Amino acid sequence: MPRIVMKFGGTSMAGIERIRHVAQLVEREAEEGNEVLVVVSAMAGETDRLVQFCKEAAASHDPTEYDVVVASGEQVTAGLLAMTLQNMGRKARSFMGWQLVRASGVHGNARVDKVESDLLSEALTGGTICVIPGFQGATEDGRLATLGRGGSDTSAVAIAAGVGADRCDIYTDVDGVYTTDPRIVPKASKLAQVTFEEMLELAGAGAKVLQVRSVGLAMRENLPLRVLSAFEDKTGTEVVAQLGEDMERTAIAGIAADRNEARVTLTGIADETGSLAKAIAPLAEAAIPVDMIVHAATQGVGKSDLNFTVPRAQLAKALALLEARKDELGFEGIKSDDRVAKVSIVGVGLRSDPALASLMFETLAERRINIAAASTGEIRASVLIDENDVELAVRALHKAYGLDDDNQGN
Ligand code: ADP
Ligand code: ASP
Ligand code: MG
Repeated sequence: MPRIVMKFGGTSMAGIERIRHVAQLVEREAEEGNEVLVVVSAMAGETDRLVQFCKEAAASHDPTEYDVVVASGEQVTAGLLAMTLQNMGRKARSFMGWQLVRASGVHGNARVDKVESDLLSEALTGGTICVIPGFQGATEDGRLATLGRGGSDTSAVAIAAGVGADRCDIYTDVDGVYTTDPRIVPKASKLAQVTFEEMLELAGAGAKVLQVRSVGLAMRENLPLRVLSAFEDKTGTEVVAQLGEDMERTAIAGIAADRNEARVTLTGIADETGSLAKAIAPLAEAAIPVDMIVHAATQGVGKSDLNFTVPRAQLAKALALLEARKDELGFEGIKSDDRVAKVSIVGVGLRSDPALASLMFETLAERRINIAAASTGEIRASVLIDENDVELAVRALHKAYGLDDDNQGN
């Protein structure tokens, strides 16, 4: 029997009516002869609400207790979906994340090490639909851990890999992966297929339709992944190792924007070997990711500035860590700006055509958008700009790279 994982996001689970609709989609797959596992998110807005409670309870809270609080939203929807399926005459039951998902690393952003699949396989063989709360697992010492915002996607892929599923379907509030966020650019085009590699870069650059870790995991496991609408019966997007031969594709697959970064400038760093590594070492020790590093020593001056970005949510912590060891780390001053955003273009075409990246700079210059920093990877080019310019930049780039679908939007 084919085994499939269906994952439903927050909008799809927001309220009993929608959960009933989800139950019907699940039933349809079961009736077609599949063994079905369902991974669910909390109702839309619920995790934000729980995060806010934590902030109000204690500005600087224990991350272990944060996980206990924020993981609860998924428990509610898992139980509700299981009872809805039972009410429809189906054999269904929920499992909790701690029973199945072994996680480690930082609380609030833990990674999945292993999925215990025995309980699930037993239930599936007995004809039971397994409903599993996404986002949660447990550490070796028996504490709840959550997998980072958007982590239910990763739960779904990890569980699919763990039970040897034939495919993993991610049902969400858009009907596939688009060339950019269709809520920002109504003319965005739906991609029939996208490669794991491109999706990994798009997700890493802020396209939140899939959590980046879920894509990395699916790529390693070579697990067929689809993104589909939970509301409309339409063909979605397939995430594949290689595009089908008949796939028509512009050189750039898509554009992503990320408003969750903040810029840090360390001034007066000595131009000597090892000074950069030393200056940002405290961030690495605290597992704060550093991106968009820009540094250029001015010859003869002896001192220069180091610019980089950190996740906005970790800016205060990063500044405190750096400030506390200022003298030892070897810089004179520290500045920050949390009104920046990163805009990226992604496509395998960037490998072979350097002119594609310069079109990005020209397009932004024409719109008088200032670039504070730029970085390029093998299939991605990113710029850091003022947060207020994001929509204009994304729209202009989308058009410049020939991605507008003129039959859509305005
Ligand atoms: P879910 O709750 O189902 O996990 P998310 O809100 O996490 O849903 O992800 C879906 C959202 O991702 C869409 O509503 C859309 O606004 C956003 N998005 C960003 N970039 C893209 C893209 N390139 N293609 C499709 N959706 C995108
Ligand atoms: N509910 C969690 C969040 O909002 C996980 C998810 O929806 O994927 O981040
Ligand atoms: Mg999501």
